Amino acid sequence: MEDLIILGGGPAGLSAGVYGVRAGLKTLLIEKSAMSGGQVLTTYEVDNYLGMKGMNGFDMGMKFKEHAEAMGVNFKEAEVTGIEDMGDRKLVHTDQGDLETKTLLLASGASHSKLHVPGEEELAGMGVSYCATCDGAFFKNKVTAVVGGGDVAVEDAIFLARFCQKVYLIHRRNELRAAKILQDELLSLPNVEVLWDQVVTQIKGEEQVESAMLRNVKTDVTQELSLQGIFIAVGIEPNTEYVPDQIQQDEKGYIIAGEDCCTNVAGIYAAGDVRTKALRQIVTAVADGANAVTSVQKYLLESKATK
Ligand code: NAP
Repeated sequence: MEDLIILGGGPAGLSAGVYGVRAGLKTLLIEKSAMSGGQVLTTYEVDNYLGMKGMNGFDMGMKFKEHAEAMGVNFKEAEVTGIEDMGDRKLVHTDQGDLETKTLLLASGASHSKLHVPGEEELAGMGVSYCATCDGAFFKNKVTAVVGGGDVAVEDAIFLARFCQKVYLIHRRNELRAAKILQDELLSLPNVEVLWDQVVTQIKGEEQVESAMLRNVKTDVTQELSLQGIFIAVGIEPNTEYVPDQIQQDEKGYIIAGEDCCTNVAGIYAAGDVRTKALRQIVTAVADGANAVTSVQKYLLESKATK
């Protein structure tokens, strides 16, 4: 039986692993694959993590993992299919069998949201992408578009502008949500054009993306935009398919937990992008890992005292 099982190998899970081992807890971290480091791995450049200005996201994710490994965190590659609260012990069902633990930390992060427009699914991987740093290189000297107005969309557009002939940023409002420093950089680029108040209604193409249909939400005017690649960056959704209803989630599916990372079920915690919080950043995920283990330690001490 483990003291602590952590689900997810992103910044929150890895940070919790380091704190778990330091607290003397028998800690196991389960990740889908050795490359399940969360969204940081596909971030081109991280500019706002203290002490690591301008670091490539993949390198940062690898650094986090090396640290956890060096501290002695045990890793297991498996797909988690469900979890069960049995009071003093928790069961984790995986495609490799069941595991038992005294406490459980859900740090399974979030994944890209979809636009849900015709052509998106059919042309996925054929010019429709959710990861500019993974697929951008295929679009050298081509015309591309990024959909969204948050940090990811703007970062993606800046990244693509380095080698694409032209990049459109398609945003549904006339104001970006992204950090001001990113907006300033984006708006200074000569090959980027922001299409304000526009939504994508369809993505067209035979074997590859050829165009996108846009509608101006203020005037209702439609236009067809020729392009070869379209990168969708319209936010994230929590990875909670394995989480039972017994663990409270908000209307968007985020696991309800405060800064102490405690869920409504004793001994089960949530950390990082999967939990309800105001700011989803690497630094807040790393902090969650530390706070969650502090709560785990408190719970284990209290349950020992009551036995
Ligand atoms: P986000 O901040 O939620 O932004 C999503 C964007 O997509 C918004 O501009 C939103 O428009 C737009 N959108 C949502 N649904 C749409 C739809 N159906 N059609 C068209 N547009 C739609 O998500 P994100 O940029 O993926 O970032 C996720 C989280 O990671 C955020 O908390 C972000 O701060 C964080 N992050 C931070 C950094 C950094 O600090 N450097 C880097 C990457 C990510 P509205 O603005 O109109 O709502």
